Formats: sequence, structure tokens, C-alpha cells
Amino acid sequence: MAKPASYILIKDATVIAEAGTSPLAHHDILVRDDLIVAIGRDLAAPADGPVTTVRVPGCIAVPGFVDGHHHMWQQLLRGAATDWTLFDYTVHMRSIFGSLFTPDDVYLATHAAALSLLSNGVTSVLEHCHIINSPAHADAAVRALKDAGIRATFAYGFYQNPPVTAGPADGSGSGSGSGSLAAAPSSYDPAFTHEARLADAARVRAAYFGSNDPARELVTFGVSPDEPESQPTEKTVREIAEARELGARLITMHVAMGPCDGARRHIVQQLADAGVLGPDLVFSHGASFTDGELAAIRASGAGIVGTPDTELQMGMGFPVVFRARDAGCNACLGIDITSNQGNDFVAQMRLAIQVQRALQNEQGGGLPTVVARKTAEVLHMGTLGGARVLQLDHLVGTLEVGKKADLALVACDDLETLPVTDPVGAVVFHTSPAHINTVIVDGVVRKSGGKLVADTSKLRDDISRRGAELNALAATCDLTEARVRWLKLLRGEPL
Ligand SMILES: [Zn+2]
Repeated sequence: MAKPASYILIKDATVIAEAGTSPLAHHDILVRDDLIVAIGRDLAAPADGPVTTVRVPGCIAVPGFVDGHHHMWQQLLRGAATDWTLFDYTVHMRSIFGSLFTPDDVYLATHAAALSLLSNGVTSVLEHCHIINSPAHADAAVRALKDAGIRATFAYGFYQNPPVTAGPADGSGSGSGSGSLAAAPSSYDPAFTHEARLADAARVRAAYFGSNDPARELVTFGVSPDEPESQPTEKTVREIAEARELGARLITMHVAMGPCDGARRHIVQQLADAGVLGPDLVFSHGASFTDGELAAIRASGAGIVGTPDTELQMGMGFPVVFRARDAGCNACLGIDITSNQGNDFVAQMRLAIQVQRALQNEQGGGLPTVVARKTAEVLHMGTLGGARVLQLDHLVGTLEVGKKADLALVACDDLETLPVTDPVGAVVFHTSPAHINTVIVDGVVRKSGGKLVADTSKLRDDISRRGAELNALAATCDLTEARVRWLKLLRGEPL
């Protein structure tokens, strides 16, 4: 006999079904199993299965937020990067910390990051996973995503973290350049070559991802090629072909990072010229995209992700996402790294729109008479826009009958949020993570009554302990080689 349907009935919400459309006051949402099956006033509880009724005073129901760019392994290093430039980040994070991570660290960080994202109303994420130092690292990342219950595309990273070198004997980590390989803490494995990585990616794809159809699998498989601006374009073209042969649903990479794009190689134009652009490509950052590159991205259906906090802080230029939208591209937002900012997705939306408004006010000259960018635009970018970039818009990004039940209930009933004059403005401008009361992914309640359903007590202890250990280990490493290598790269000089 078939299992009876299981229902969630959300009562009396203000429903923002799609950013940019009029909110629906005093509406109910009925979820059956993983799908939204009704939205309307005074919906009755079905009688053919168990019903969980959810009633949150003053709540605004929004589609779950979609985070288009994240490196979740850095959750263990929260706060490490808050005063870093991109150069500092590449030297310390990509060359030192990345090589110290064990598979257990990857599981711990990714699991904690996924739960933190869920707590912030993020229901879908594109995980650009460039911490795969061994097959066990890949296993750990996938297991952590699956265990957390977030909708994710795991993008297997082709990037190889370099070996770490021991620092001077005084442990200052300032680096003399004469250190020896620090075999103990490094998970760098010279045998894990690109060919070995390709074979492992095929193994991972087969072992964990079944049909790789997002309508059937909560976690799907993608690929992150090696850094396109650090290698010949032919190699990136080859890696895109390899990713497609592996059956990657999405292929994501960092490109065109404004002032940090020293060589101005216009990678996307080269990829367009090579005829490899397509809707499965997702480009992060992109402040130095040319108009021609944006036109090529639009024509191909590829996506663009802006990460306001890291771009503004680290010298990667102003977020390109509004310019990209104006050019007709699919564009969305990403959190990028919690070694810098938090997982507060609303903060990213707010930052993105305010910096854009500031730019346009400056360009206009004189006294602005109109705010050109409306709040609904950035909420759209954080929901349906993100779903389009991640090729999930047939499943999520709006609240409508037939779509997956991925949503957040934002409680707007306190002194921070009342009175709610405009529900879209209230969500984007007046709420903090504490207002995210309920989060549902694929019809499963992951946060309820303002608290994650998962028990995080042990996780919190483990994160604190291991984060401190990793920081202590990193302080013993020699940075000289990494500094020289990355400075050349960022200046566009040959290695
Ligand atoms: Zn990134």
C-alpha cells in the first residue's frame, strides 16, 4: 500500500509568491510531501494524511533564498579574512589553509555551513568546492551536504591546493623561503593529479548522484574547473569539455575580477570565441566583463553571480549583477566565504542594492530625483534570479502550485519590523537572521520556531576546537613561496 501523503499547512501569511508581484495578504500555503499544492485563503486541512500546521504571527512567506556562489569549507575559519585583500586571501586561504584541511575538517565545515545557510533562509546553494585534496575530501563534502538537507549543487573542484612548507623555527610563519615540506599537517598529495582527479570525479558522480536530475535529487553534481585566469584558455576549454563528459549539471568558475583582473585576458570572450559557452556555465564576480562578454553570456544562457561583501572589500570592483541584468543576463547573488562575512543572505541583498544605488546617484550627478533600483529587484535576484542561474527555476525560486516546497517564513512582529508597510521592504531592509522563523526545503521543515531542527551542540564544540587548531597550524607555515606565486598571478605576470 502506498504511503499516505504528509502535509504542511502554513496559515495566515503574507505571501510574496514571486518578487516583483503584489504580495498576497492573509494567505495559506499547503504543502504535500515535497510540493506546494495550494495557495489561497482559509485552506482546509486535508483528511488523507498527517498535517503539520504552522502559524507564525506576522509572517511573510518568501521563496527560499538561492546562493549562487559559496566555498563552504571555510566555515571553520570564520572571521579569518575580515581584513584581507584578495591577495591576502589567495596566499593564506588558497595556499595554506586549503592544504591543511583533512576530510573530517571538510565534513565538519560543510555541514555547519549548510545548517547555517538553512538557518538564514538559504534553501539552494551552488557549492564551489575547491578543497578536494583527495577522494576522501570529496566524499566528505558530498556527505555533509546530503546530511544537512539543503538543496545543493556540489561543484567538484579541479583546483589542487599546493603543498605547505614549514616556516621558520620560531613559528612566526613569516617565511624565509628555506623551509622544508611540512608533511604532517598537509593533505597535499602529489599523486592526486588532474587525471586522477577526473577519475575520482567520475567515481563521485556515479556513487552519489543517481539521475543527477534536480527534480529527483536534492544534491546534484557539477564541476569547478581550475582558475581560468591562472592557466591557458585551452586548458579551461578542455576542462569544460571534461566536466560535460562527466555529466556535470553546472560548471562554475571565478572570472573578470575588476582591479584584480590584472591581465585583462577577457576569458569569457575567449570561451565564447571557442564556442563553449552554454546555460550550464556560471561565472562568479565579473566586474571587468566587457559589454561584448555580457552579450555573449546572455545569448548563451549562462549565469553570473555577484558576491557584494568580498568584491567590495577585496578589490574585485563593484558588483556587476545589476549591469548584467540590464544586459539581459541571468544574474544572482552569492555569499562566497564565511571566513569573511556571515551567512546572512539578506545582508548581501541589502549591500548589493545600496551600492548600486550609490553608483547610479554618483553617475547621475546633482540631486537624485528618483531611486532607480527598486527593492523587489534585488529580492528577485536572491530568489528566482538565483534559481535561473542554477537552472532550477522550473522547481524553485517562486511560491506556486507545482513547485518544490522551498520557502522561508520571516517573522515581522517585533519592534525591528513593525509596522510592515511594504512586505518586500520589510524583508530586505528590516530583518536580521533572527527573524527567519521557519525554513522548509523539499517539503521538510529544517528550521522551526526560530531554531534549527538539527541539534548543533556538538557541532559548535567541534567547530571551535578545530578552528583554533587550524589557525595555530597555519601560523607555522612559510608564506614566501605563496606570496611570490600569487603576486605574479594577480599582476598578470608569467609564473
Ligand atoms: Zn569564490
